[in-house]
Amino acid sequence: MKKIAVLTSGGDAPGMNAAIRAVVRYSIYHDIKVYGVQRGYKGLMEGELQEMSISSVGDIIHRGGTILRSARSLEFKEKEGQKKALNVLDVFKIDGLVVIGGDGSFMGAKALSEQGFPAIGIPGTIDNDLAYTDFTIGFDTAVNTALDAISKLRDTTSSHERVSIIEVMGRNCGDIALYAGLAGGAEAILVPEMPYDLDEICKKLISSNNRGKTQSIILVAEGVGSATEIGHVIQERTGLEARSTILGHIQRGGTPSATDRLLGSRLGGAAVQLLIDGKSSRVVGIKDNDIIDLDIHEALSMKRQFNLDMYNLAQILSI
Ligand code: ATP
Repeated sequence: MKKIAVLTSGGDAPGMNAAIRAVVRYSIYHDIKVYGVQRGYKGLMEGELQEMSISSVGDIIHRGGTILRSARSLEFKEKEGQKKALNVLDVFKIDGLVVIGGDGSFMGAKALSEQGFPAIGIPGTIDNDLAYTDFTIGFDTAVNTALDAISKLRDTTSSHERVSIIEVMGRNCGDIALYAGLAGGAEAILVPEMPYDLDEICKKLISSNNRGKTQSIILVAEGVGSATEIGHVIQERTGLEARSTILGHIQRGGTPSATDRLLGSRLGGAAVQLLIDGKSSRVVGIKDNDIIDLDIHEALSMKRQFNLDMYNLAQILSI
C-alpha cells in the first residue's frame, strides 16, 4: 500500500474532520502517501484529488463539517460513473480508498470493491442508522445540539405554559429523538420504530397540566411526520397552546463533541490499518467501546435494533 485516497460523502457530520485527520496522519506515519478527494464521489469522478500533508489537517479536529466537502452524485450510482472513478484512481496510482459517510456512501464503496478496488468505509452520519455499529460519527454532537435546543425551549415553554413539539433529524432512525428526549426529560418521544397514540399523549398532557405542570416537551423524529401538524392536533385536542420547532440543519453543524472526535480518530486509524493489512470491502465501527470491522455486504444487510430499554425507561420517567 503506497498511496491511498480519502473522501467524505452524503450528509456531513461533526467529527468527519477528526476522521480525515486520523486517516492522513496514520498514513503518513506509515510512509503512505494520502490524497484528499474533494466533493465525495462527484469529485472522484472528476479527478479532484490533492495530496495531503501533515499540516493540511492541522487545526481541524475541533471543526464541524468536512474540509474535503461532501456531495451526492447520481452519476456515480451507475456503472459508467464508477468506471470514471476507477479510471481516475488508476491515473493517480491510488491503491486503496477510505470512504467516510452513511449507508449510501457505503454502497458506493461496495460497488468499487466488487470491481476489484480496495475500499474501506467509516460511518459518518448524524443519523446513527447503521446497524453494525453502536454509534456513527456525528451522532453524539447532534444529540447534544438537540439537547441544548430543548433546554432553551424549556425556558420559554415554561414561561408561557405551553407544549413544545420539537422535530429532530435522523431519517428513518429515531435515535436522535430517543437520546435527546431521554436526556432532555421529554414527556413523549415519537420515533418511527414505535407506534404511538396521540390521544394517549393528549390525555397525559391534560392530566399533567391539571397537576400544575407549566410546560411539556415532545420530541418527534423526522421519520414520524411533521411536528407542525402534530402540534396543531395537540392544540386542538387539549386546548393547550402548542408550538412546534423544527431544528433542521443546525443539528449537522457545530464543534464536534469529545466522543465524536475520539470516534473519528479511532476509526480513521483503524481504516488505514485495514488497508495496510491488505483488507478490502470492509467497514469499521464501534461495539461496546471496541473498534471492530466487518464485511461491507454483511454490515449493510444487518437490521438495526432499536433500544427498547431506553425507550421504555423514557416512558416511565415521564409519568
Ligand atoms: P447520510 O446517511 O448522511 O444521508 P449517505 O452516505 O447515506 O449519508 P447518500 O446520499 O445515500 O448519503 O449517498 C451518498 C452518495 O453515495 C450518493 O450520492 C451516491 O453517489 C453514492 N451511492 C449511494 N447509493 C449508491 C449505490 N447503490 N451504488 C453506488 N453508489 C451509491
